[in-house]
Amino acid sequence: MERIWIAIGSNFGKPLKQVNTALSELAKLPKTRFLACSSYYRSRPLGLQNQPDFLNAVAVLDTALTPEILLNYIQAIELKQGRVRKANRFGPRTLDLDILLFGMRTIVTPRLTIPHYDIYNREFFLYPLKELSPNLQFPNGVMLSYYLTQVPYNNLTYWNEDLSITTHIPIR
Ligand code: ATP
Ligand code: MG
Ligand code: MG
Repeated sequence: MERIWIAIGSNFGKPLKQVNTALSELAKLPKTRFLACSSYYRSRPLGLQNQPDFLNAVAVLDTALTPEILLNYIQAIELKQGRVRKANRFGPRTLDLDILLFGMRTIVTPRLTIPHYDIYNREFFLYPLKELSPNLQFPNGVMLSYYLTQVPYNNLTYWNEDLSITTHIPIR
């Protein structure tokens, strides 16, 4: 078994429902044990700004699947939940499942880059990761805590369904 961290994002088609459904699908993966999910976060979209905010979270699991088979499964979950691959990679989507880390492995193939190529820069990956695994070390030997000092919250808050409520992440 290897420990893996999967990022979940949605900004279309009832994000809360999409993320809850995705988590229950991840919990059903074969040869895999679901361990925990972070809090739900709200982030402003990258790229195209005139689209809804994202709900972001990270889940941690133990798996005996290979990275490629895991990717097949998570792409099937995305498709089942109505993900349509649009011309613009950064447009609205019902569900995005990205493998952030697969144990301490570094993988670069046409279908997979692990760690996720932008893990070091995205607050909506780093802060949920911190919640789950505060002492995490990346395969390059650098601590998660180092990247947290380099990447501010930007517009990251906790997710509230009620848009009139904003729950800020406590100051570190
Ligand atoms: P970004 O990668 O910037 O977060 P995105 O998640 O929206 O953008 P997708 O359209 O979901 O991009 O994925 C594009 C391709 O990325 C997929 O077809 C998949 O083969 C590839 N890919 C490479 N590395 C990973 C990874 N670690 N997790 C998931 N998909 C990956
Ligand atoms: Mg993504
Ligand atoms: Mg993706």
